[in-house]
Amino acid sequence: MSPLRKDKAPFGITTLEDISTLILQSHDLGETLSNIVTLVARRMGTEVCSIYLLEEDGRTLRLRASKGLSRRAIGKVNMNISEGLTGLAIEKGRVVSILEPHNHPRYRYFKETREERFHSFLGIPLFDRRKPIGVITIQTVAPRQFSSEEISALSTIAFQIASIVINARLLDSIRQKEEEATRFVRELEQTRQSLRDQNHVEGNETKNGYRALRGTVAYPGVASGPANLLDERLGFADILDEAGIVPAQEKGRLEGALEKTRIQTLYLEKQMAERFSSDDAAIFHTHLMILEDRGFLQRLTTEIETLRHSAPYALKKVVGEYVDAFGQMEDAYLRERAADMEDIGRRILANLVGQAQHHLQLKHPGILVAKELLPSDMATLDHDMILGIVTEAGEKNSHAVIMAKSMGIPAIVGVKGALKTVEPEEDLILDANSGTLYIRPSPQIAEEFRRLEGDYKRELSRIEEYRSLPPRTGDGQEITLRANIGLIGDVAIALRNGADGVGLYRTEFPYMARGDFPDREEQFQLYRRIVEGFKGSPVTIRTLDIGGDKALPYFSPPKEDNPFMGWRSVRVSLDHRDIFRIQLEAILMASAQGPVKLLFPMISSMEEVHTCKELVAEARANLEKEGVAIAERIPLGVMIEVPAAVYLADRLAREVDFFALGTNDLVQYVLAADRNNPRVTKYYDPLHPAVVQILSDMGQVAKNHGIGLCICGEMASDPVHMTLLLGLGFREFSMAAPFIPRVKGFLQRITLAETERIAARALKLEEGRLIREHIRNSLADFAIDDL
Ligand code: PEP
Ligand code: MG
Repeated sequence: MSPLRKDKAPFGITTLEDISTLILQSHDLGETLSNIVTLVARRMGTEVCSIYLLEEDGRTLRLRASKGLSRRAIGKVNMNISEGLTGLAIEKGRVVSILEPHNHPRYRYFKETREERFHSFLGIPLFDRRKPIGVITIQTVAPRQFSSEEISALSTIAFQIASIVINARLLDSIRQKEEEATRFVRELEQTRQSLRDQNHVEGNETKNGYRALRGTVAYPGVASGPANLLDERLGFADILDEAGIVPAQEKGRLEGALEKTRIQTLYLEKQMAERFSSDDAAIFHTHLMILEDRGFLQRLTTEIETLRHSAPYALKKVVGEYVDAFGQMEDAYLRERAADMEDIGRRILANLVGQAQHHLQLKHPGILVAKELLPSDMATLDHDMILGIVTEAGEKNSHAVIMAKSMGIPAIVGVKGALKTVEPEEDLILDANSGTLYIRPSPQIAEEFRRLEGDYKRELSRIEEYRSLPPRTGDGQEITLRANIGLIGDVAIALRNGADGVGLYRTEFPYMARGDFPDREEQFQLYRRIVEGFKGSPVTIRTLDIGGDKALPYFSPPKEDNPFMGWRSVRVSLDHRDIFRIQLEAILMASAQGPVKLLFPMISSMEEVHTCKELVAEARANLEKEGVAIAERIPLGVMIEVPAAVYLADRLAREVDFFALGTNDLVQYVLAADRNNPRVTKYYDPLHPAVVQILSDMGQVAKNHGIGLCICGEMASDPVHMTLLLGLGFREFSMAAPFIPRVKGFLQRITLAETERIAARALKLEEGRLIREHIRNSLADFAIDDL
């Protein structure tokens, strides 16, 4: 590894920075990998760059992204690690660089990739700790010997790719916890505002004599307790150069210290894996890689042998350079590598100067206040003693903060002067919702926050309870709760929240995240992963719904004065049959992997439904001709979101298997009130009597024809709206998955009989305001306000 200096390695640094930007903008691992291979191939001037990842069996490599190899090969080409040059890179665990690869005994030809044209091959393994997880390869048509700089730059990129593969899994689990906590923030906001009004927090001082410091919220929540300061640490500040050293002795000292540090790092890795997870512990594997990195060790040796510095001083210089180089990076993730270097440097230094590792023993539970938290602190501190975290350093994405999130500990960062201001054991209240640390708060404030803290804890534990509840009303009516999803990451969130399949998969999101229309195979792979993710529960896939407020970067419709009334949704699909056919085929192909339902958006005429059905039949015939497996029966549905569809509902019901009520659009089109325009919010009322009547009628039509009916607009997640919908006969709802546990809690408190009574009266009222008041008042006895 070399310190990443802008002047030294132009390919490496610019590409690395661009890759960081790609990672930051990424929504999904597959898409990020695909962007990375395109960028690397372009920057290195190679015809091919590909990424293979190891499957769970640890033996099969699968092509996951490629620039240059046939698109059809992606996701398809599998090889055992004992085959091919890519497998060789895994088996050897190091770089494989070969001219004229087809002459090599390990060369294997896959016809899907059309690789015979290439005359050089470079493969670099990706590691998660010591375990190989994949390979990045590049290939060129002209014979080319790759330079050591190119190999070194690509190795750094390989390291980054490994990190994102590992982080993708970790972040997934964190995202869910964040969502739960941030929802609660809204409830706390009011109380906090009233407290602010009472105390006028200005800057860092308040009128009532206690102090308040401000920081950035890293993980929300409320905590209180005495201060645990973490400020005494061995640092490099006091290390000065020494004259007259004996280089051989210094090298010996350094080697001994490095060896000790490696052993300690292995121990930290183990400890972290036990306390957290192996994903969290991966950071120490990175530390081990740095401790064994030839570039790093060579720099230390040069400082000692050529520049005749003492081992501690050489360490101070080299670590300092790395920390500076990383610290100047634009990208927060790379900047955070500076903390890793610092952590490693300090641990080597402690071993060099013979000082035992200093780790604070926390004697009692409290709020931890530190300049910054290093990964080794998180591995060694007793977590039961950490109620909240406050750091002076400002990175929200540091490992320590990520770990705090995975433990659900409220944390704020970037709190300037915290260590100077806070005394050991001083009483603190950490409001990690507003980013405020209260030092020695007044008794009223303390009392108020304790109440909030209690509410917060009760709330979190209640969400947990709700999650495992069956979706059933108090009087025993089973209700179906499905998830609205858009990105692949939503699958895990939906499953964790107990969604019964997907009521609405908005396929335009993966289209939006790309640089071009995905081909059939790409779409199929995506849909397949989603269908497989739900293991037998239905997945309703809606065809492309672009236009209005949803644009694709590579497909700009002509400018329209009224885009919501314009060329959008199924209208675009029907005018671009080529694109539409590909999507329909990909959806039909996914139907062989599990129960798929097909949904058409924005239907406003019978012609549209007839044409859509014809195109589905054609797609089916094409696939059958190709011999591709598809489900025998795929339920077809239309979204009811345009007034014309409401009036056609009876006829539509004869053509399709289910209705999906898109109330977000339906309300805007019925009431002529733009769903995104804050000026007309007061006109956009889902409880407007006209909307309530339509909902009631749609329920009736679906019942008369015995077809499915699902509400998939935002209305579905609000208890007031849901009360009405239940009373009108709706039994299937689809919503953003984090709402599902609360909705289950709500269902348990209400009875169907009561909702029917409420809905019957609501239908008679003449104003939306009165309907809302009526439902709210009727729910007063059901204690739903805390939901
Ligand atoms: C709707 O309109 O209610 C709906 C669910 O679709 P979207 O929000 O994607 O337009
Ligand atoms: Mg809609």
